[in-house]
Amino acid sequence: MEYNATITKIVEMNHKIREFTVKLDAGDPTFEAGQFALIGLKDDEGNMIRRAYSIVSAPGDGDRHFYIILKYTPDVFDATKTPKALTPILFNAKEGDRIFMAPRAVGHFTPKLAKGAKQILYVATGTGLAPFRGMLRAHEDLLKTTKIALLHGVRHEDDFGYTDELQALAQKYPKNFFFFPIASSPSQDYTGSKGRVTTIMKDGDIQAAFGEDFGLGTHAYFCGSPAMIKDGTAILEDLGVPTDNLHKEVQ
Ligand SMILES: Cc1cc2nc3c(=O)[nH]c(=O)nc-3n(C[C@H](O)[C@H](O)[C@H](O)COP(=O)(O)OP(=O)(O)OC[C@H]3O[C@@H](n4cnc5c(N)ncnc54)[C@H](O)[C@@H]3O)c2cc1C
Repeated sequence: MEYNATITKIVEMNHKIREFTVKLDAGDPTFEAGQFALIGLKDDEGNMIRRAYSIVSAPGDGDRHFYIILKYTPDVFDATKTPKALTPILFNAKEGDRIFMAPRAVGHFTPKLAKGAKQILYVATGTGLAPFRGMLRAHEDLLKTTKIALLHGVRHEDDFGYTDELQALAQKYPKNFFFFPIASSPSQDYTGSKGRVTTIMKDGDIQAAFGEDFGLGTHAYFCGSPAMIKDGTAILEDLGVPTDNLHKEVQ
């Protein structure tokens, strides 16, 4: 497998989060908001290491953008382990470097799943935020007719991404878009909400923001850790959200 694309832009969002823009040499780069694609770089022995990454941009943004959190920092990175981890290699890459990107984006996790919903919960842990950011960019119009709550849970406040943009969206649509960032192990200086996304689901703040309880017209998307998805779906089922309306993607 050879390189078929170029990293055209790298935005350093903070010391461990980057947004990579990747341009295919040729082929069809189309995708639906919420889908993911495989990306790959070769290690120092020439083996291509590929991983799945959600596309954080909207189709109208042009080349695909990816929001990637460095998984192994130098202090825990062990270069002798095989197969190698991709994120440390990716974080050494520079603008203009060659990369592999699967031309075909895949995944069923798109806005279509909640067609006709009255209320939608987007529930993310960590980089699980990526498909929701893509969906909101591509389908901002949905916020004129549908109430959407975005819950983003991270460990440390450095793990948040796109917070200013999402807060601005909440100000633009004060009756329909509600953003709940929450950190489970933040620094002492952190003044935001502390806990997990499941804490927010249990405390009634979403229903208060929506102005009504959950019901048959409520859909929820979960993207992130299996434990969060298991706990979160059980909570929403107890609160009356039909099981068929719960959509899941493990990252
Ligand atoms: C559908 C989907 C969408 C995703 N979207 C995103 C996204 O938008 N953004 C994002 O950041 N991630 C996303 N992910 C996660 C992503 O695919 C990678 O799993 C993640 O970036 C970590 O990859 P990695 O290779 O660095 O680490 P790992 O996948 O954890 O690497 C595993 C390999 O690293 C080796 N290893 C283990 N410990 C060490 C160590 N200490 N030092 C060195 N090597 C070690 C092991 O041999 C192991 O084989 C998504 C995953 C899925 C399934």
